[in-house]
Amino acid sequence: YHAKRNHLGVAGYEVENDDNSFEQLTLLADLRCGIDRGELELHYQPKVSLPDRAVAGIEALVRWRHPIRGLLGPQAFVPEAEQSDLMLALTDAVLDMALGDQKRWRADGRDLPIAVNVGAACLRDSGFPGRVEDALRRHDAEAGLLTLEITESFLIVDPSAAAGALARLRDKGVRISIDDFGVGYSSMSYLQSMPLDELKIDRNFTAGILTTDRGRAIVGAIIDLAHAVDLTVVAEGIEDEATLAAVGEMGCEQAQGYLMCRPLPPAEIPTWLDTWTVPALS
Ligand code: C2E
Ligand code: MG
Ligand code: MG
Ligand code: MG
Repeated sequence: YHAKRNHLGVAGYEVENDDNSFEQLTLLADLRCGIDRGELELHYQPKVSLPDRAVAGIEALVRWRHPIRGLLGPQAFVPEAEQSDLMLALTDAVLDMALGDQKRWRADGRDLPIAVNVGAACLRDSGFPGRVEDALRRHDAEAGLLTLEITESFLIVDPSAAAGALARLRDKGVRISIDDFGVGYSSMSYLQSMPLDELKIDRNFTAGILTTDRGRAIVGAIIDLAHAVDLTVVAEGIEDEATLAAVGEMGCEQAQGYLMCRPLPPAEIPTWLDTWTVPALS
C-alpha cells in the first residue's frame, strides 16, 4: 500500500496511487479467467491504399465479451493488462484469433494482410519473438502478411532489447509499424532506433488538418519525416471525405477510419469486402 498523510496528518489510503487497487486486482483476475474461457473477441477494421482506395489490409482490435459487463473495448482492460504479466497471454490469444481468421479468409480466396496491436510491454519479454514465430507456424501463416503495430503506453525500459526483439521478427519477414505516432513517450527515439516499416499517424493529428494551419503543418512534417526514413504512412481516424482527400494529397499511402469502415465482427468482413467498391476518382 502507498500510505499517504492527508491534511489531518493521518495516514490514508489512496486508491488512485495504488498499483494494486482492489478494482485492478479483480479486473486482472477476471481477465485471466476470461482469456482462458475464450471471452476475448476481435473486431476488424480495414486499411485502404491511396489514392485508389483498394483494400490494403485489415487491423484486429480486441474486445472482451464480459459475462456481466457486456462487450468491453480495449481501453477498459488493455492498460491494466499492460502493467501485469497478462499482456503476453492477451497478445497470444489475439494473434491466435487473428491468424485463424486470416487462414479462414484465405481458404475462401481472400488473401488479407493482417495487423495486430502489440503493447510495448510485450517487448520486455525475451520469449516474445519466439511466441510470434510459433503462432505463424501453427497457422501456416505468411510472415509478410502480418504487421505488428507497436503502441507505447509506458516508457520502454530497455529500448535496445525491444529493438532486438523487433529486428528478429522483421528478419523473418514480419512487418513492424509504430502506432499512434506522436502521442507516445518517445516516438522520435523509436524512429531512430527501432526497425520499422510503417508509421501510423494518430487520429489526434489527422483530425485537425482541415481546421488549422498548424495541424496541417504538423501532419505534413510527420509524413515527410516518415518518407525520409522509408516508412509507409497510414492516416488513422478518417471520418470524412475531405480529410481523406487531404491526407491522400499530402502523400499518405494508406488510410483507415469510420468513413471507410467501422471495426466489424469477423463474420461481417467478407460482405464488407464484397460490397466495398473502389470509388471512381474524379
Ligand atoms: P489503435 O490501434 O490506434 O486503433 C484505432 C482505434 O481508433 C480503435 O479503437 C478504432 O475503433 C478507433 N477508430 C478507428 N477509426 C476511427 C475513426 O474514424 N474515428 C474514431 N473516433 N475512432 C476510430 P479501439 O478498438 O477502441 O482500440 C483502442 C486502442 O486499443 C487501439 O488503438 C490499440 O492501441 C489498443 N488495442 C486494440 N486492440 C488491441 C490488442 O489486441 N492488443 C493491444 N495491446 N492493444 C490493443
Ligand atoms: Mg493499431
Ligand atoms: Mg493507432
Ligand atoms: Mg490511435
